[in-house]
Amino acid sequence: MTINNFSCLDRVRIVLVETSHTGNMGSAARAMKTMGISDLYLVNPIVKPDSQAISLAAGASDIIKNATITRSLDEAIGDCRLVIGASARSRSLQWPVLASRACGEKIVSEAYEGQVALVFGRERVGLTNDELQKCHYHVAISANPEYSSLNLAMSVQILTYEIRMAMLARSSQPDHFMSPEKAREYPQSEELERFYEHLEKTLINTQFIKTNHPGQVINRLRRLYTRARPEVQELNILRGMLSSIDRQLADKPTHSNSLND
Ligand code: SAH
Repeated sequence: MTINNFSCLDRVRIVLVETSHTGNMGSAARAMKTMGISDLYLVNPIVKPDSQAISLAAGASDIIKNATITRSLDEAIGDCRLVIGASARSRSLQWPVLASRACGEKIVSEAYEGQVALVFGRERVGLTNDELQKCHYHVAISANPEYSSLNLAMSVQILTYEIRMAMLARSSQPDHFMSPEKAREYPQSEELERFYEHLEKTLINTQFIKTNHPGQVINRLRRLYTRARPEVQELNILRGMLSSIDRQLADKPTHSNSLND
């Protein structure tokens, strides 16, 4: 389906994880609406949006009223082909990190092809490592290294502004520059999660991963596959490879039985 520059913003989802202050929800909604983005997901909000959220949203209360509430991050990003997590801190986790401008460009170029999500963390503790590992990239707003943690809604404002700027820059370009990502079809987040589950199960069955010593293997493999970013067909091949190993493992006892016959 071809979409125009402005409607690509409809494919951009803003996800707030376990927000504690309804005022932040309202201010985030206002920030989104000023930049032309309206799809808000609230993952397990600590408090439900209330009158304070509505009042701080001002003219953007429709975004709060239409927000989708989910119980888990997986539910909020399951249908997304690109997920970017906003994080102020650099963690022990080494993950591909984008600057805010590059994040805007990446989001816009992929929103032409499908659903994308930008995920924000809790006011006090940000996003967990598990949540950050579900993202293809992290984005860090370049701030004072001594004090780099912005207010939640302000970070939503800056990153949605960059998305809008990237969208406007594209609309002034000739068509043939528009969509370099066109030929690529990336799997949705839920398909990737199914692959990681399958990978872990198979590697436990082969005893490559010991259940009582899970270690960092799966996390490292997640990072490897995130970096490689398999396309839909490549993921099918990987799933097929795992299934072929599963079949061999399942055949093994039968095979040794037949040797004993
Ligand atoms: N104290 C928390 C920060 C929470 S601020 C921590 O140390 O992680 C709430 C959210 O705003 C963060 O989870 C992140 O999504 C976003 N945010 C704040 N500052 C940011 C920055 N400099 N770059 C990117 N995202 C930022």
